[in-house]
Amino acid sequence: MSHPLIEQWRTEIVEYSHRLHANEWVANHDGNLSARLSDTHLLCTPTAISKGDLEAAWLIVVDGENKVVEGSRRSFSEIQLHRAAYDARPDISVVMHAHPPTSCAFAVAGVPIPHPMMAEPVVSLGREIPMVPYHRPGDPKLSEAIGEALQRADVILLERHGLLAVGGGFEQAYLRMELVEHLAKIGFKARQLGHARILPESEIDALSKKGRPASFPVRETEVQPNSSKNTSVASSPPPQVSTLVSDALKRFS
Ligand SMILES: [Zn+2]
Repeated sequence: MSHPLIEQWRTEIVEYSHRLHANEWVANHDGNLSARLSDTHLLCTPTAISKGDLEAAWLIVVDGENKVVEGSRRSFSEIQLHRAAYDARPDISVVMHAHPPTSCAFAVAGVPIPHPMMAEPVVSLGREIPMVPYHRPGDPKLSEAIGEALQRADVILLERHGLLAVGGGFEQAYLRMELVEHLAKIGFKARQLGHARILPESEIDALSKKGRPASFPVRETEVQPNSSKNTSVASSPPPQVSTLVSDALKRFS
């Protein structure tokens, strides 16, 4: 299986897996990352490894039936979460799932993460951090609920479970997840001080009209073989986070 970004994604899956572990957003074999190689194939982390130990040689490619077609390790059971996200969002290229502790505290308490309390996160994340109701792993209702929630947001909280973030690249998905975990910490502390005040509805409306940053997908189907477009993809990587941030700031000002 090939894709113009497959080598970059291999490197980034390892880098961001290590970051998830260093941040203590995963424990044991928790967490998984994937990138969309085609309409059916995904490059993913394998099951049963600590994300702190992951090596590029351990990554696997799975086909549309989630069978491993490249790599010697096994697929992971939470791949349903990733498939639901890719099916619901043709605009995304990557999915990241982890169990950041403060977000998970809200998830196990069944309490939504307070949002929007501040203006900038409305522009970065939109007006909602939806909480997807608990369904047993494998239940089609879980895929439906994830697909529905991802129409409204790029990071969702899975009740009694963790966070799922999507994006055009791993840096974007990671920063989105980082912001949600940060907001969870702020909301938790604000409640200890008495109240996590939500912005007035009129203000949320005005801010959310600016829209959240696009996911800038890069799909294999967009690359024409044997054409100058191949070169243009190589020389024009997806927008970096600095571009995304300046774009958000422009819309915010
Ligand atoms: Zn999980």
